[in-house]
Amino acid sequence: MNAFTFMSLLPRRFERLKTVLNSRMGDLTILVEDVEKPHNLSAILRSCDAVGILEAHSVSQGDKTNTFNSTAQGSQKWVKFIQHKSIENAVKKLKGRGFRLYGTNLDVSSIDYRECDFTKPTAFVLGAEKWGLSSTATKLMDESIFIPMRGMVQSLNVSVAGATLLFEALRQRESAGITPKNGEGVEGELYKQTIFEWAYPEIASWYQNKGRKYPELNDTGEIIGDIPRTIKRI
Ligand code: SAM
Repeated sequence: MNAFTFMSLLPRRFERLKTVLNSRMGDLTILVEDVEKPHNLSAILRSCDAVGILEAHSVSQGDKTNTFNSTAQGSQKWVKFIQHKSIENAVKKLKGRGFRLYGTNLDVSSIDYRECDFTKPTAFVLGAEKWGLSSTATKLMDESIFIPMRGMVQSLNVSVAGATLLFEALRQRESAGITPKNGEGVEGELYKQTIFEWAYPEIASWYQNKGRKYPELNDTGEIIGDIPRTIKRI
């Protein structure tokens, strides 16, 4: 790889990154199954960023890579989007981390989302634009929920449904006084990794490609310790 240069962050910028990361919630997320339109994925990630979600998850048919467009307004830089090989894998991972999975389904056995408690680790599972959640996904859910509809059209746009649910979870957590303010929503090592990736994305990918641990940052966001000669400071 050729040498590349980077500028140290302005302390004000670093403070802003920390303020946002300090209120991120690692225990609230969404999983999208076969939601593929870039404007929908982008709008979903933008809502995730607005609510304070640390990471979102996706499963796509045929290993398609998810893409974003200008609707995202860059939110894909601030919300990690983790792609899983299959719905079974994604569900296993999330359940293993203690998430309760709420599948969104418009059928009669679903319950009104306003009757649920989203203050515990919560993952909302959203289905494809055309056909909704697969039957495999539906069977794996802990609960099926729906947003009541009063109009002529049967369903909401998937990104609108996602935003409605995420903001309800945020509302519940704010009224319970449990939204993080000082980084307690992101486990220690993950906090360090994330702030490094936000502050120095290019250098972070250099370290990832080499399979090496990121260097430490000081209080004002400067990289401390040795960094490889191929990366030059200006
Ligand atoms: N015909 C599809 C169906 O029956 O599910 C409609 C799919 S809808 C356009 C795409 C996704 O948006 C759904 O899978 C669900 O995740 C979400 N969604 C749309 N309207 C919803 C509602 N009223 N309640 C909960 N989720 C909804």
